[in-house]
Amino acid sequence: MSVSFHLCQPGGGASCGACCGLYNFRDHSRAALTRRLTAQTERLSRAPHTPEAYGEAARELTANRDAPALFPIVRVCPLLGFLDAEHQRVGCLGHPRVTGGVDLRDCGVYRATVCESFTCPSFGWLTDAQARLVQAACADWYLYGLVITDVEFVRGCLKLLEWELGGPASPDVLRERPDSLAAVRRLFALKETAPGRDGQATVFGRFAHDTEGEPTPRSLDYAALGTRAAPEDDVVLCLGYTPPDAPALLAARALVRDHVRAVAATFPA
Ligand code: SF4
Repeated sequence: MSVSFHLCQPGGGASCGACCGLYNFRDHSRAALTRRLTAQTERLSRAPHTPEAYGEAARELTANRDAPALFPIVRVCPLLGFLDAEHQRVGCLGHPRVTGGVDLRDCGVYRATVCESFTCPSFGWLTDAQARLVQAACADWYLYGLVITDVEFVRGCLKLLEWELGGPASPDVLRERPDSLAAVRRLFALKETAPGRDGQATVFGRFAHDTEGEPTPRSLDYAALGTRAAPEDDVVLCLGYTPPDAPALLAARALVRDHVRAVAATFPA
C-alpha cells in the first residue's frame, strides 16, 4: 500500500501545508489560518527573490507571529502562503516554481533538500484510491490538509461505512457517485464542523500535548466514563473530542454514526 501521486499539490482544488506547520496552533480554525497565510503572502510578495530579502522577511514574520506553536517539535514555516490571487491554494512561497526559478527554501525552517524529499506518513499508509477520494471530497486547502494527514480518520470512516453497508465501500465508487461524494464530504468535514469541541486547546485530533509539549496519542478512559468501547470511537478521537462523561461520548458517536449512515443512504437498498 502507498500513494503514487504527490499528496501536497494533487490539484483539483486540494493542497496541503501541514508538514510546514500550517495547523500547529491552538487556534487552527480556518479564519485564524487564513489571516496568518494572508499576512505571510503579503509580506513575501514585497520581498525581492533573494536569500537576503527572503531571510529578513522570514525572521520578521516569525518574530511577529501572534501565537506560539502548539507542538514545539513541529516547526512552523513563515514561507507558507497562498499560491494564487484567489487564496484557494496553500504552498511554499520559496519554491523555485513560485519564485521564477530561485530556490529560497533554505530561508524557511528546514533546508531545501529536506523540503524537497520529505513525504508524510500518509504517502505510505493510504492507498491511491483513498487519497483520491479525500482529494475529490475535500477540494479546498483547509479541509484537505486536515483530512489527508489523518490516516486513522480516513480509514476509520471507511471502516464504519463498510459496517453500515454490510460490505466493501470502494473509495473509487464513492468518488464517482455525486451524491455519495457530497455525503463523504460532509462526513470528512466534521473535522471542521463538529460542535462541542471548544475548550480543548491542547488537543489536536488524536493527539494531546504532553507536559513537554510533545504530541502523544490519546485514548478514552472507559472505566472513568462508565461505558464500553464502540466502533465509532477511533473517529470520535480523531475529531478531537475529549468527552467528559458518557452522554458526551454518546452524542459524539451519534454525530459520527449519522454522517456515516447518510453516506450509506446514497446507495440503493
Ligand atoms: S521552505 Fe520548506 S517548510 Fe517552509 S513552506 Fe517551503 S516547503 Fe514548507
